Amino acid sequence: MDTYARFPVALVRGRGVWVWDEAGSRYLDCVAGIAVNTLGHSDGSLRRALARQLGQLQHVSNLYRIPEQEQLAAAITARSCFDRVFFCNSGAEANEAAIKLARKHGHSVRGIEQPLILSAQASFHGRTLAAVTATGQPKYHQGFEPMVQGFRYFPYNDTAAFEALLATCEAGGPQVAAVLLEPLQGEGGVIPGDPAFFARVRQLCSERRILLIFDEVQIGVGRSGRLWGYEQLGVEPDAITLAKGLGGGFPIGALAVKASADHFQPGEHASTFGGNPMACRAGLTVLEQIERRALLPHVQAMGSLLQQQLSALVARHPERFEGVRGWGLLQGLVLRADAGITAPELVRAALQQGLLLVPAGPSVVRFVPPLVIQPRHLRHAVRCLESALVGLKPQPQA
Ligand SMILES: *Cc1c(COP(=O)(O)O)cnc(C)c1O
Repeated sequence: MDTYARFPVALVRGRGVWVWDEAGSRYLDCVAGIAVNTLGHSDGSLRRALARQLGQLQHVSNLYRIPEQEQLAAAITARSCFDRVFFCNSGAEANEAAIKLARKHGHSVRGIEQPLILSAQASFHGRTLAAVTATGQPKYHQGFEPMVQGFRYFPYNDTAAFEALLATCEAGGPQVAAVLLEPLQGEGGVIPGDPAFFARVRQLCSERRILLIFDEVQIGVGRSGRLWGYEQLGVEPDAITLAKGLGGGFPIGALAVKASADHFQPGEHASTFGGNPMACRAGLTVLEQIERRALLPHVQAMGSLLQQQLSALVARHPERFEGVRGWGLLQGLVLRADAGITAPELVRAALQQGLLLVPAGPSVVRFVPPLVIQPRHLRHAVRCLESALVGLKPQPQA
């Protein structure tokens, strides 16, 4: 079905940070399946691990213990502030699990009959009905009404507005089960969370025993330069959702919770494919390789370099760009309102120059390359982007 506005390009092969189309043209991949291909394309360790797993056992039901799933849960909890993990297959599905968990928390811990979930404007939480309702962008709701009940929205990073909404909702007693937030808004325009705002939200949630849930589907698993996005903000949420980068290209999603937020009983939530041996082998391999190859300091270094290179580009074209923002290898190049081009137009022009990029809204060009990207690739990416930009100008500068 026609659910995607696709580029007329079919990618058929990949190696590291490079992909090739049907015609044999090569592209530098700064999209990585939108923050998915953590280790790059056709990574040897992931190939070997999955080939071995394929020869051993592919899928079994969650009716039985799944050792690979137990190992991946142990790997996640050992490296985070969480104690238990539920596995599924995508970001939206992980957020659905979080929303159900939040409602149970509202009923059982706060004694609320019709619990509310507060989420941010310009957020993105996925396309299933509850996840898209949590998404604070009316354009994603349009045509799919009625939306799911029990969601309220506030402007991101706005402490006063958040406090006001919470006060209104709770004027007559407990009403709010959870606050759902991205530590950095990805799709919404690459907007990093403000530590002061998050500290205040954490404090208010703790005082009232409201669950604080972070959607780390895009920023989690090393992309920010820390393993988890919450480490960038200095606050611990009660739960996080993961997906995109966790399987390095193999579909997997997860909800990780602290013991105090572990409200699911047997039979209350499930997923047929969730946490099957193939997906968990992929997740285990990604986490293992992030450590073995010291990818966290690498992402920090590459993120700084990319930010530097993009800042220099901004300085050379002040009539086009407003600036650069992001964490690690999730960076957004922000176009001026009067730039005369939109982010989708610039992305299209970059494709012609052999560079894959993805917009984050109408005025932000997003860089989310594989975490294994090297300095020479980043310099090449910025050169390609500059060629694309110059090609878009009616009067190229001397
Ligand atoms: C991509 C994304 C989702 C949705 O993930 P799917 O796997 O497409 O369902 C949810 N939250 C955030 C922050 C995302 O970036």
